[in-house]
Amino acid sequence: MSDLTTQSAADLAGLIHSKQVSSAEVVQAHLDRIAAVDANFGAFLHVAGESALKAARAVDDSLARGEAPASPLAGVPLALKDVFTATDMPTTCGSKILEGWTAPYDATLTAKLRAAGIPILGKTNMDEFAMGSSTENSAYGPTRNPWDVTRIPGGSGGGSAAALASFQAPLAIGTDTGGSIRQPAAVTATVGTKPTYGTVSRYGLVACASSLDQGGPCGRTVLDTALLHEVIAGHDPLDSTSMNVAIPDLVAAARAGAQGDLKGVRVGVVKELKSGAYQDGVLASFDAAVAVLKDLGAEVVEVSCPSFVYGIAAYYLILPSEVSSNLARFDALRYGLRVGDDGSNSSDQVTALTREAGFGPEVKRRIMIGTYALSAGYFDEFYGQALKVRRLIADDFARAYEQVDVLISPTSPFTAWKIGEKVDDPLAMYMADLCTIPTNLAGTCAISVPSGLAAEDNLPVGLQIMAPVMADDRLYRVAAAYEAARGAMPLPTLS
Ligand code: GLN
Repeated sequence: MSDLTTQSAADLAGLIHSKQVSSAEVVQAHLDRIAAVDANFGAFLHVAGESALKAARAVDDSLARGEAPASPLAGVPLALKDVFTATDMPTTCGSKILEGWTAPYDATLTAKLRAAGIPILGKTNMDEFAMGSSTENSAYGPTRNPWDVTRIPGGSGGGSAAALASFQAPLAIGTDTGGSIRQPAAVTATVGTKPTYGTVSRYGLVACASSLDQGGPCGRTVLDTALLHEVIAGHDPLDSTSMNVAIPDLVAAARAGAQGDLKGVRVGVVKELKSGAYQDGVLASFDAAVAVLKDLGAEVVEVSCPSFVYGIAAYYLILPSEVSSNLARFDALRYGLRVGDDGSNSSDQVTALTREAGFGPEVKRRIMIGTYALSAGYFDEFYGQALKVRRLIADDFARAYEQVDVLISPTSPFTAWKIGEKVDDPLAMYMADLCTIPTNLAGTCAISVPSGLAAEDNLPVGLQIMAPVMADDRLYRVAAAYEAARGAMPLPTLS
């Protein structure tokens, strides 16, 4: 493995900006590694070697002219989840219905990466339209977990997490609608943040459930994740739900956390997120993490959020309702696939045939559930009730944050399961989102940071740290302090 692919993004940036290595060399090392190993993992759907090298050379040229780096991560390459548009590569969202489609415009997030001098190595695999917890719902085949290739890498952003864990990219982008950044981070021993809703632009992020979707940063360290978070966050007039507020200083918080203790920080353990269907090794790892936080001086108390237990039920009505509306745009006229257009079918039939052939089973299931939940006569009973639960969950958070600065829980109730194990049992799959969903429903923020391996299977476990709206800096302070005190994590054997 090339030395360059094992470094942190922060260290790579230091080497590039001091001209000890060029961005082109760093990008080439990652492209070589992708070519050598990605057949084992299936993290990438598309590799954009030429355009990544071009972006790298532009950074090198600018540095050679004596210009200041465009951002603290200028020259450090990244893997982009295939749900953000980019004009120089396809956007499929892991779906057949978008096969062969290239967007005519860059997502705001993509444009921010380019402006920051971050070369994009390619697009990563995902569950179709971000629906799933295992990346098995991709129309292009599953991604495999670098810790054990017979297991899932989490989802829907399994490709981004696997790319990081197998050293194919030092940075990655994900989206988190119900946990798709945090749960893949947990099961691959990487770091991922779901930012406060409205702080990372959704313009050019292909919509799953618009009131929940949020792009966010993924890395192998807390500092790298904070550095990337600062690059992608900020107000965007092109996104009607974007907040026009100052983003807190995330990198400073991460640096302070890594150096300092947690004296005076009040940490709440969510009672409802640690009893029930949890794996023993996950609970043991969580208890050990609590001990580390206490050693750092944090004041740890138990907090009750009674409505969280209804989170999955509410989410799996709200999300499908929004999906059934958002995915109506895939009508065979505007994008990608077109089936049955031979003159023998009406345009309605072409739309139906295209949707039948182009969407996978999980997407169809959610469109059906959402259409049902929104139909006249059932709207109040299902969608309306779910919205009330959403309110109760936000109220639980608000009450909890009157008592504590951050809340913690395991990120996922269990470690990476075997590929195929839960594909026929959607409810078992949905349980993976037990701890992550409340944050999406409330629009607050959370991070997952590795907390060791579960004793029974030697697979990674994640600690989730949650914070109020616009308090994303608290995530980084606590996560960085914890990461420094936890000690080094073992590396995957890259089986
Ligand atoms: N696993 C969740 C789902 O299937 C989360 C998806 C996401 O965050 N995009 O809906």
